[in-house]
Amino acid sequence: MNAPSSQRAPDANDRPVPSTRVSTVERYDFHRVIQSYLDDAARLVNVPDHVRVILREPKNELIVHFPVRMDSGEYRLFKGYRIQHSNILGPYKGGMRYHEHASLDDFKALGAMMTWKCALMNLPFGGAKGGIKFDPRSVSRDELSRITRRFFHALGSNIGPDYDVPAPDVGTNAQTMAWAMDTYLNTVGMVKKEAAMGVVTGKPVSSGGTVGRETATGQGVVHCIAEWARRSRFKLEGKKLIVQGFGNVGSNTAVLLAAHGVSLVAVGDHTGYLYNPEGFNVHRLKQYVAQNGSIAGYANGQKINRDEFFTVQADIFVPAALENQIGASEAEALQVKLVAEGANGPCSPEGEAVLARRGIELLPDVLANAGGVTVSYYEWVQNRRSEIWGIEEVEERLEKAMLDAYERMTQFATTHKCPNRIACYGVALQRLVQVYLDREIFP
Ligand code: GLU
Repeated sequence: MNAPSSQRAPDANDRPVPSTRVSTVERYDFHRVIQSYLDDAARLVNVPDHVRVILREPKNELIVHFPVRMDSGEYRLFKGYRIQHSNILGPYKGGMRYHEHASLDDFKALGAMMTWKCALMNLPFGGAKGGIKFDPRSVSRDELSRITRRFFHALGSNIGPDYDVPAPDVGTNAQTMAWAMDTYLNTVGMVKKEAAMGVVTGKPVSSGGTVGRETATGQGVVHCIAEWARRSRFKLEGKKLIVQGFGNVGSNTAVLLAAHGVSLVAVGDHTGYLYNPEGFNVHRLKQYVAQNGSIAGYANGQKINRDEFFTVQADIFVPAALENQIGASEAEALQVKLVAEGANGPCSPEGEAVLARRGIELLPDVLANAGGVTVSYYEWVQNRRSEIWGIEEVEERLEKAMLDAYERMTQFATTHKCPNRIACYGVALQRLVQVYLDREIFP
């Protein structure tokens, strides 16, 4: 993650490229990449061309500018986005990302991915994504609260429990969602407060969130890895893991995999990379990051650089940071058997092609990290019904949902002889196409 994705680009010649080079190549077009997966899947499924054309673009693109008073007394103008890709299967659904490199095109890609994810998981949701272009680490807690509140105020009734339901993503968390919900409840008039809590998911459990949401994305990644291991007759006990990104997804994945006897030997985040051949104490590392905001300064690991990280001998790699991290050179360097995408879009198409050529298996994002939105759905259902579920119920449902989707992906991939990623898009597309065939185009 040393090199922000916007400064890197896929290398066409499959040659290792030092990450320190000054890049002059054009910017990674994430939205184009996601559109190309749709086009690939559409060639395998019988998709009327107008449906494919509709799904290539989002339905709504909202951009808001709003002023916020900073602690210094000065005012700063922020740019917020909400991209609503599709609501043909249900309310728009997807996270809010706070990141300094956020762009309209990235949100368009990420919003479309939510449509594929929800459709693959059989959830009654469409897809959306949004957020604010700024670095949330650069502001105080009070400023973060005011920025979040002004953003959700600006969105007004463009979101809502029956219309568009945001959730946490990179740079946001349960606290962000508590501010978001509070702002919505205080500004949009409604009668049924309880159900209106479902305007966002990923809230603190004390404020209408669900147990199991915090760990859900990591848990989903682990269910996929465990299922892959079972089907491949691969024993997880004693195996090694490397993780890029140690936020919600990366840290929970590492902790939950430790219970399967898998040890984390290298880890990286926005501050750099650490290596420990003996295996990190993941609980302690997670605690350290919760207190210090990053892995920087953690004592029980040796500093390595980004290139070294990608060459660490291990069995499983979980990218859990940003998109476009595994280009051809990283894919060429990796010494693992499996890549499970905890992040959205971490492999570029060039990187994925190299992984395939080298026989490294891939569990794609739309399946692997879908545990988060799946448990978001459970939270939304509980809010609607004024229910509070226990952890066993959430965990049991999530495991079944992940394994069912895994099977749908495998069936499609086997039938159509295509990569797992295209199979996920294919399954999702079949579901969406059927709805378009039933409902047709208005008027
Ligand atoms: N941001 C997460 C994702 O990319 C979760 C979305 C949600 O829970 O709605 O899947």
